[in-house]
Amino acid sequence: PSATPDAPAAEDATPDAPAAKDAPADETSPTPHPVPLAEAAVNVGDLAVSRGDGIFESIAVIGGRFIALGPHLARLAHSAELLELPAPDLAAFERAARAGVDAHTAEPELLVKLVYSRGIEGDGRASGWVQVLSGANHAEARGRGIRVVTLDRGYRHDIATTSPWLLQGAKTLSYALNKAALREAARRGADDVVFVSSDDVVLEAPTSNVLVRHGDLFRTPRTDLGILAGTTQAAVFDTLDRLGFETAETVLSTAELAAADNIWLLSSGRLVAPVRELDGRAVAVDHELTAKLLDETFGVLAP
Ligand code: PLP
Repeated sequence: PSATPDAPAAEDATPDAPAAKDAPADETSPTPHPVPLAEAAVNVGDLAVSRGDGIFESIAVIGGRFIALGPHLARLAHSAELLELPAPDLAAFERAARAGVDAHTAEPELLVKLVYSRGIEGDGRASGWVQVLSGANHAEARGRGIRVVTLDRGYRHDIATTSPWLLQGAKTLSYALNKAALREAARRGADDVVFVSSDDVVLEAPTSNVLVRHGDLFRTPRTDLGILAGTTQAAVFDTLDRLGFETAETVLSTAELAAADNIWLLSSGRLVAPVRELDGRAVAVDHELTAKLLDETFGVLAP
């Protein structure tokens, strides 16, 4: 029973619109019902709030269709394992997510956030909720491209193995560092960050995976480098394979990143964002291929 999320689903950005909340009636199989964001409340004793001690997933919903729902739920379960949380009730999360989207005003793109927390201190039960977010505009990032800077994450490339307590590879709620890195990028006149290890290995971005192209070879950093296994990266690799390109998960040096023909950041929100500038130097944007990846992988038309 402690695995059962007490899963309210809240809605964001359009305060009047309904969202989903779990009825507490049946603790083993909660039934979601929508509530507006203003009515969705989390207990101040919840460890998600006081310590960021929990995990989350952000799932794109395009034209009412969940993108990579299965892989997102599987990653939630994997993150829970890494944090030694009770196994989340994935069916309850899925029901809450669908109820939240059904109750929301239809939009071409929505983002659904699943949150799973260690719960209230001393209570011994995990808690969880779902939030439907709307209103993001990714046209500029997908069309014109983004400017990124490399920042040292301060860890070696092998810390997932040597120091598993750092929880690299789990999608924890503790994103204050990721947000601080994005503010540093803004100070440097950039839109996003590529984290590199203290020993010069390309890792990931604060909320995205990195894709680099050299000729017909497309590579992304290996997931044993203390980074998140991206659902968007996996989907884009399927498309690239279908298009006849060579793909590989690898160890990439910062020099190889700088020498890439093209670079993209891949994530559930922006999906495919071409990089147009790396550390102040122009990077070529392949608009045609970017549009193809967006369309063939996600059914999204490039701006
Ligand atoms: N890496 C980090 C640190 C992230 O937070 C995310 C997503 O938020 C990703 C990579 C990309 O994962 P996905 O494509 O599944 O959204």
